[in-house]
Amino acid sequence: MAKIGINIATGSLQQAEIIVGIDLGTTNSLVAFIHPESKLPTALKEFDSSSLVPSVVHFDQLGNAEVGEPAKQFLETDPANTIFSAKRLMGKSYKDVKDNAHFFTYKVIDDDTDSLVKVQVGDRFYSPIELSSFILKELKNRAEHILKTPVTKAVITVPAYFNDAQRQATRDAGKLAGLDVLRIVNEPTAASLAYGLGLQKDEEKTIAVYDLGGGTFDISILKIAGGIFEVLSTNGDTYLGGDDLDHAVMEFFLKQIGISFEEINQEKKQLQSLRLLAEWAKKELSFAELFSTEWSGYNVEISRVQFNEIIQPLVNRTIESCVKALSDASLTVNEIDTIIMVGGSTRVPLVKESISSFFGKQVNDSVNPDEVVALGAAVQADILAGNNKDFLLLDITPLSLGIETMGGLMDVLIPRNAKIPNKAGRQYTTQKDGQGSMRISVFQGERDLVQHNRKLAEFNFTGIPGMPAGMPKVEVSFLINADGILQVTAKELRSGVEQSIEVKPQYGLTDEEVEQMLLDSITHAKEDMTVRALVEARTEGEQILEVTEKFIAKNPELLSQEELMQAASAMQNLQMALTLTDKNLIQTKIEELNEISRRKQ
Ligand code: ADP
Ligand code: MG
Repeated sequence: MAKIGINIATGSLQQAEIIVGIDLGTTNSLVAFIHPESKLPTALKEFDSSSLVPSVVHFDQLGNAEVGEPAKQFLETDPANTIFSAKRLMGKSYKDVKDNAHFFTYKVIDDDTDSLVKVQVGDRFYSPIELSSFILKELKNRAEHILKTPVTKAVITVPAYFNDAQRQATRDAGKLAGLDVLRIVNEPTAASLAYGLGLQKDEEKTIAVYDLGGGTFDISILKIAGGIFEVLSTNGDTYLGGDDLDHAVMEFFLKQIGISFEEINQEKKQLQSLRLLAEWAKKELSFAELFSTEWSGYNVEISRVQFNEIIQPLVNRTIESCVKALSDASLTVNEIDTIIMVGGSTRVPLVKESISSFFGKQVNDSVNPDEVVALGAAVQADILAGNNKDFLLLDITPLSLGIETMGGLMDVLIPRNAKIPNKAGRQYTTQKDGQGSMRISVFQGERDLVQHNRKLAEFNFTGIPGMPAGMPKVEVSFLINADGILQVTAKELRSGVEQSIEVKPQYGLTDEEVEQMLLDSITHAKEDMTVRALVEARTEGEQILEVTEKFIAKNPELLSQEELMQAASAMQNLQMALTLTDKNLIQTKIEELNEISRRKQ
């Protein structure tokens, strides 16, 4: 196995390997990758079919799951067993979703607790994580079928407003589908990447990402600087999207042919067919001025002008969200450099026109809005795969960074997955009177003892002015700059003496090694905790022995002969305990010695 480098900043592996980008959408999901020949982000699809997989799971009588287009056929005819919009349930409790319970045509379990929701299908229960994993598994299978190679690593996108629970749920769904989720990326960030934004280090831009999908609307304001994407604000409506446009067209048709909604609602097959017709009409009107056809013996017809009229209120609602997002980011429309259109519904001309005129600028819509998020996820995946070597997308630290403290313990200053650039500092002091120097050893890894982690650098901090133990204040600070280079500085705050070193970002760690280090930290977690507790007890014991010795040497007149004897015996017992590995024994002996000292205070 050839050695491959890993960049501490990017976590990027420097070896070719397919890592796919996945847009796990509320309505549609898809996979993209960087084509090895064209080097362009490309959505995966079977010959002459769509790249989109409807995010729908249908369960048959036996509980077998079917995903995508075939499952979508059951939305209207078998609603109780057809799960759509599972993404809306990710990381949510019943309390979170109960206000929208009517939206779900399938059974969302109400156990009136704060625990996560489940969906009941027949006599089976599914978590949203499992439901999403069915979709991801389908995407994985598709990708493997098309690429003719195993696909095990992915970058998955989530809305910028997803909280930790929702992100973790998405990660878990990936794991359940047999995918190693290397990164969860915000959808607006991915969309920007697909437009090549944020790929230059000195680029600074403020971007608005307008995402109108099938059932949800999101507006995100991002700031890109030095390869870092910062979400300034998000707004939107989790129940506004293309489905509402379809519904508006369907009502228009019903009125035209003189049938009430209640009437057609009795006939699920008819309803389904009219809904599909409405969606088709909507899509046609993105290109044509007029749509007309025959349906069930009726003539139905709608013009672009009529369509615009019925959907104008919905578009206006999205603009209200844009106003709020700008105000939350304390920005005016003029301060937005670029507007990106995302989501199938932004193909509607009225949407594009209204948004362009609101921002006073032409919107960017050259990349397919259905695919743009997945394409951007593929760009991110390619960077992680190390294929895009010129470019550093600074993001997070793959492993924790810290220094060695007493007893060989790892003291973490910058935790794993921390954002880059980053800064952290902590104060330390000397253990001996007049101690003039201090060894600073920098480590990387997740274990409690530095001996199990990886040493990155070491230096001797000298020139600490002579002071009693515990007096000097040595501040050690870590600074990871935008290039991923770690600078370690030690400064004695009372005297101002300072020294620093730079640690280069390349460590030649293979991805297997990083993985192994993470795995080790999990397997050894319990053992590490025990060792840490023992080391801490020993350190405390040694300190107490030293302090007591000093006290007795300085103030012999304060102690009676008997007290001296007692102290000496307690000290001896503690010293004995320190040679053994029983943390509790050490603590008991510390306590006994403390007891004697306390009596003298
Ligand atoms: P999501 O992100 O919610 O999964 P998508 O971005 O895939 O959703 O958007 C799906 C929506 O886009 C559907 O409502 C679909 O009808 C709509 N859509 C797709 N193509 C067009 C088009 N040409 N014109 C208008 N709407 C379209
Ligand atoms: Mg989407």
